[in-house]
Order: sequence, then structure tokens, then C-alpha cells
Amino acid sequence: MDYMIGAMIKDVPVRMFAADTTELVGEAQKIHSTLPTASAAFGRTLTATALMTMLLKNENNKISVQIKCDGPIEDLLVIGNTNGEIKGDIYNPHVHIPLNQIGKLDVAGAIGKGTLTIIQDLGLKEPYVGTVELVSGEIGEDFSYYFSVSEQIPSVVALGVLVNPDGTIKKAGGYLIQLLPNHSEELIDYIEKRIGEIPTISKLLDEGHEPKEILELIFKDYKVTFTEKKKPVYHCDCNRDRFERGLISLGREELTAIVEEDGQAEILCHFCNKKYEFEKADLITLLESIEAK
Ligand SMILES: [Zn+2]
Repeated sequence: MDYMIGAMIKDVPVRMFAADTTELVGEAQKIHSTLPTASAAFGRTLTATALMTMLLKNENNKISVQIKCDGPIEDLLVIGNTNGEIKGDIYNPHVHIPLNQIGKLDVAGAIGKGTLTIIQDLGLKEPYVGTVELVSGEIGEDFSYYFSVSEQIPSVVALGVLVNPDGTIKKAGGYLIQLLPNHSEELIDYIEKRIGEIPTISKLLDEGHEPKEILELIFKDYKVTFTEKKKPVYHCDCNRDRFERGLISLGREELTAIVEEDGQAEILCHFCNKKYEFEKADLITLLESIEAK
């Protein structure tokens, strides 16, 4: 079962999070009908966003992760909130390209060059916005780079998605380790050494290691104390009201044209594929609400 967990080590300036996101990514794969390479790219981004929701402190805080790229996927958007509710949209879900040189799903090839933008709405007057160039397109490294450059927090982000031969998700998950102020060079060396020694995140997930075990494995010489635990879920908060407001915002002229030319409107939510249908009478009511203003 999916879960995310936070952990710390007494008197050591480090914080860490790990997640099993198999169900979350599985749900996203079904909703968006992603093909394997796209599933891996989307799944890694969903997992990174889920891990980042562990950093949110207050109710109603929100994180939006946007990848704009020149590879066949073109565009990815994932949004998460404090409750671990995650939703995403992928511009081109039907991307499946040959495996890379080491026989893995070629996420970097599907992403290409581009930017990673993270918008954190922490309930302040302005959201915190950071953009970095993609350094590898493998997503984990790109998030590490984002944290180091944009937030000046040296971080390790490892993300993995395993796809079954039938295209469904076998396993997904990852971890995030962040060094806090006053950390020593020895601590950096230790983490780098341990990450080099342990299997890759994909292998760990495939072997059935739980998020808790993965953190304990990395910091095997320390006593890891677990803190908050959350369940990540794929959840879209769309509703008819929001799409009504969207139609109204088109303005009188455009809405009149829809009534006259199409006589109805059908809107698909990009995040969950739910269909909202507006009959002619509904559209006329919306039009009247504009006239009344
Ligand atoms: Zn929706």
C-alpha cells in the first residue's frame, strides 16, 4: 500500500522522505493511458511532487510542478497539496521510445531539453516560484539541481518507476534527502558513498523494499527516527462550477457563438478525464448571467 514517510536523525542536520507511489502512479497511468516511457516520466514527476508535499506545513498549501520540454512528451504538469492529494496532466501520454543504452526506459530521451518550474503556494501573499534548466531530463537529477540552485538546499532525489509488460505500473517510489544548515563535509561524503553502495531506487523497489527500509538502508550507521506519515492519492478536485466559470470567462461573444454553432458544450477535465456536458439551456443560463452583470 502506498505511503510516504518523513525521518530525521538526532543531532544530524539532515531530513529525509521516502515514498511508495505504486497506486498513485498506477491510477495516473490508467487515467491518462500513458505508454511505458511516458509512464516513467510522468510517474517520476508525480512521485517527486508527492515527496515535496511532505515539506508543506499548513492546510491548503499547494505545489505545482511544470516541465516544459522539447522531447516528444512536450509538457508535464503535476499539482499536489498538503493532504498528499496529487493530480497531473501530460501533454503527450502516448510516448514510447526505444530503451536507453543501459536497457532502461529512456526518460531523458522522451523529455529532452527544457525547464522545470516549481510554484509553491504557501498561503503567503505571493507564491514562491523557481525555474531551472533541465540538467539531465531524468527528472530525479533535475529536482536535485532545482533544490540546490533555487532553494540552496543540497539534496538528493531518487525516483523510480517500473512498468509491467502489459503497460501497467509494477512499482513506483522514491526518496528525497536534504542537508540542513551546518552540515559537515563528512556527512556529504557519507551520503554519496552510501548511495553509491546501495542498489538503484528501481532495484530497491523491485526487490520489495519499503520506504522505511530504504531510508534505514542508506543511513545504516545511524539511528533513523520516523516522523510524519501520509498516504499519497491521485485526486482531482474539479467540479461543474469551475467549468461554468470557465465558460462564463469566455465572454458574451464567444459563448453566443458556441450556443448558435454547436448548441452544446462538452468539456473534459485534463487531470481526471471527467466529462462535463452543457446543454443549450445550460449555456443560455450562463449567457444570461453575463447579461445580468
Ligand atoms: Zn478533474
